[in-house]
Amino acid sequence: MQVIDKLTKENLDIVKEEIKNNNLVIFPTETVYGIGANALSSLAVSKIFEVKTRARNNPLIVHLKDKKEIEKYAIIENEIEKKLIDTFMPGPLTLILKKKEIIPDVVTANLDTVGIRIPSNPIAHEFLDYIDYPIAAPSANISSRPSGTKVEDIKMEFDNLVNYIIDGGESKIGLESTVVKVINEVPTILRPGYVTKEDIIKTIGVCEVSPHVLKEVDKNTKVESPGMLYKHYAPKTKCLLLYSNNIDKLKELIEKNKTEKTIILGSKKLEKISCYKFINYGDTLEEISHNLFSLLRKCDTYYADLIIIEGVKKEGLGLAIMNRLIRTSSFNYQEL
Ligand code: AMP
Ligand code: MG
Repeated sequence: MQVIDKLTKENLDIVKEEIKNNNLVIFPTETVYGIGANALSSLAVSKIFEVKTRARNNPLIVHLKDKKEIEKYAIIENEIEKKLIDTFMPGPLTLILKKKEIIPDVVTANLDTVGIRIPSNPIAHEFLDYIDYPIAAPSANISSRPSGTKVEDIKMEFDNLVNYIIDGGESKIGLESTVVKVINEVPTILRPGYVTKEDIIKTIGVCEVSPHVLKEVDKNTKVESPGMLYKHYAPKTKCLLLYSNNIDKLKELIEKNKTEKTIILGSKKLEKISCYKFINYGDTLEEISHNLFSLLRKCDTYYADLIIIEGVKKEGLGLAIMNRLIRTSSFNYQEL
């Protein structure tokens, strides 16, 4: 895999050619890195599913260079969708809209809707603008693994599978976009992210959160967001997620559950607890979101027998963090 660290005209021509030839290019966004292909080519999009080993019924998000492009590929059906676009795009929001025929079924896993996102990251914008194709792109990680937020992490997974990665440094937000669908005139969060329920209520007045966000979903359940069905964001080491808003109770839970080789992944207030290795994941929700996926990968390098992860309050950005952590730990979760 070749790392492109500057978007010179020459490099832009290289990645444009790569996309034109139905190959994949990994690019940075403000949320996480995406592994992108021409969204109008079934052949190119199929390669994404292959290299990620992604389930074919888990639809992809289509990335566009600006708002004017949306109606080429999707139908904006009401004022609420329009307002969400006006307020949150470009930015870390994916809006599920009725799809137009031009989007191949492989992109949307045969659904009649398509997830549309316009990244605000300037490098993503320059890439999308220059190549001038809509780009289907899921997160740059093998399915079930933590999403890619750093070039080194991604290189380890896709080195021989993808020819080019555009380096944009560490992903600023670190968690994937908020996925929203307007259902019966109510914006409904199917996957929480940096744009929060509270942000959407400020603009629209109402916002619901899908009940599947914090729950294990049975494979036979019909869900609005098929991504919720899968094991996700997981390191190889076993994880246990613990939460209490009372620090003494949290410490008690940790003491009760820790093993001989336990890594504690949490905030500074836990650093004095005796354990195999303490890793500070940050002390604000923004820091935790930014650091989380890369630190989960780092945990695997210590060959511990357990990672105890400190949970956070399920509010604001905390809901997105807990949505990921509950899946990271395969629903191995205790709250006191
Ligand atoms: P990823 O590509 O890994 O960021 O995951 C994309 C997420 O968006 C998954 O949870 C998908 O289920 C969800 N998604 C994408 N397209 C749609 C759609 N048309 N309807 C509902 N959810 C979608
Ligand atoms: Mg993903």
